[in-house]
Amino acid sequence: MDKELDVVIIGGGIVGTAIARELSRYQLRVALVEKEADVGWGTTKANSAVVHTGYDPKPGTLMAKLNVQGARLFPSICEELDVPYKKLGSLVLTPNEEGFRELEELKERGKINGVTNLEIITQEKLFELEPNLSRDIKGALWIKDTAITSPVELTIALRENAERNGVRFILDTTVTGFELEDRKIKSIRTDKGFLKANWIINAAGVYSDDVARFAGDESFSITPVKGEYALFDKEIGNLVNHVIFPLPTETTKGILVLPTVDGNLLVGPNEHTTSKDDTNVTEEGLRGIISFAKGEVPNLPLSMLITVFAGLRAKELNRKDFVIEPSPVVENLINVGGIQSPGLSSAPAIALYVIEILKDKGVELVKKRDFIPERKAIPRFANLSWEERTRLIAQDSNYGEIICRCEHVTVGEIIEAVRRGANTLDGIKFRTRAGSGRCQGGFCGPRLIPLLSQLLEVPPEEITKKGKESRLVIGETKR
Ligand SMILES: Cc1cc2nc3c(=O)[nH]c(=O)nc-3n(C[C@H](O)[C@H](O)[C@H](O)COP(=O)(O)OP(=O)(O)OC[C@H]3O[C@@H](n4cnc5c(N)ncnc54)[C@H](O)[C@@H]3O)c2cc1C
Repeated sequence: MDKELDVVIIGGGIVGTAIARELSRYQLRVALVEKEADVGWGTTKANSAVVHTGYDPKPGTLMAKLNVQGARLFPSICEELDVPYKKLGSLVLTPNEEGFRELEELKERGKINGVTNLEIITQEKLFELEPNLSRDIKGALWIKDTAITSPVELTIALRENAERNGVRFILDTTVTGFELEDRKIKSIRTDKGFLKANWIINAAGVYSDDVARFAGDESFSITPVKGEYALFDKEIGNLVNHVIFPLPTETTKGILVLPTVDGNLLVGPNEHTTSKDDTNVTEEGLRGIISFAKGEVPNLPLSMLITVFAGLRAKELNRKDFVIEPSPVVENLINVGGIQSPGLSSAPAIALYVIEILKDKGVELVKKRDFIPERKAIPRFANLSWEERTRLIAQDSNYGEIICRCEHVTVGEIIEAVRRGANTLDGIKFRTRAGSGRCQGGFCGPRLIPLLSQLLEVPPEEITKKGKESRLVIGETKR
C-alpha cells in the first residue's frame, strides 16, 4: 500500500466524500481512507437530514457563510447525482406571545446571513399549514426554503461519482498514526500498511482531533454530543408537512418533528455529552424526545414507532465554529474538524473552501477535460409507475422478484447494489432500503444473507451487518 499520492482524505462521511468529489475534477492522484466497511456510517448516517438555509448560525462565523452557500448548492448537486431533495419548508414554533420577539430576532439574523423567504405567521395561517399541531402554539417563523435529503444516499453518490472520476476509496482501513519529518507528514500509518501523500485532509468527524494529535497538533478538540431519535412508520409520515422546530437555544435547534424523504416521520434529537463510541439510545432519552414532540403534535401515536438511533455531534466548544484550516503544526495537513450541525447542509461549500486552501498553498489544480458530473441512482422499483416496472422486468427478470416486502425492494436492486460496492446488510439497506421498513429486516434479513453469500462468493458465516465483528450466522451452515 506504499503509494505516492497527491492528496489523501481521512474519513468517508458527507464531508470527506464531498471533498473527494470536488478534487476529482482536477488532475490529481487522490485516495480516501475510511475505517468502516462503507462510506457514510459515522455521524452522516444519524442526523435530522435537514438542509438548513442558514438563518440560525451566528453572523460572521464560517458556519453561517458555508451553511448559506452549501444550501444554495444542494439542489443542483442532488440533481446531478440523482439523490432525493425535497423543499418542504420549516416552521419554528413559539408556545407564547413573548416568543414572537425571538422569532423576529431569528428572522433578522437570517436576513443578515443572506437568507430570504422568511415570514412570521400567526395561528390561523399556521394551523392551515399544519392542522395537527397543538392549539397551544401561538405562531411560527416560516422558513420557506428549508429542504430534506438523504445524507447516506448522497454520500454514496458522491463516492460513486468521485470513484468514476478517478478517486481511490480504501475502506475498512483505519489511520493509526503519521510518520513526521521536518514539520511534514512523510507517511500515513494505517492498520493495513503505509500511504504517502503530499497533502492530507483530516475529515475524521468526531475523531478529527485524535487524527490531528497523530501529528502533534492540539489546536482544536472535539466534544461528542449525542442526539437520540425515534423513527415512525410511513403510515403517519404526513402527520406534519414541514420540518417542525421549537425555539432554538444557545446550543441546539431543539427536538424536531419532520417527514423523511422516504415518507417516514422522524422525531429528535436531544443533547447529551458522551463518549465517541456511544450511540446507544436510552429509555430515558426516548421518553424525553417523545414527550416533547407530543407537546407540539399531541396525536403522535407511539404504536407506530419502528426504530430508534442516535448520532454524535462533533462540537468544538472553544471556537463554537467549524475548524477548516491548515494545521499550525505540520505543513501538509488540513484540518476539517468541528463539523457539527449544519455540517450536512454546508458540506458542498466546505469542499469548495478546502479547494481554496489547497490553491492558496500552491497546489496546482488543472481541470480534467473528461470529468463526468452525473451519476444515476439504482432504480427504486417501489417508486416506479406500472409501465416503468414492466419495462424493467422485461429487461431483467430479477426486478420481478420482491425480497423486502415492507419497502418493495427487488432482487434486481440488491444485485445492482452489490455491483456498486455493497458488501454488508447495512450497505444494502442504505442503497436500496431493504430492511428499513416496518419489520426492520425481520423478513428480508434471512433471505438477504444467502443472496449476499452467493453474490459475493463467500460463505454465509462471513456476511456481516456492518463489517468487522458484526457476523450474523454462527456455527456451521449446510452447503
Ligand atoms: C443529532 C444530529 C443532528 C444533525 N442534524 C443535521 C441536520 O439536520 N442538518 C445538517 O446540516 N447537519 C446536521 N447534523 C450535522 C451533520 O450530521 C454532520 O455535520 C455531518 O454528518 C458530519 O460529517 P463528517 O463527514 O464530518 O463526519 P462523519 O460522518 O462522522 O465522517 C467521518 C468519518 O471518518 C471516519 N474515521 C474516523 N476516524 C478515522 C480513522 N482514524 N481512519 C479512517 N477513518 C476514520 C469515520 O468512520 C467516519 O465515517 C446533525 C448532527 C447530529 C449528530
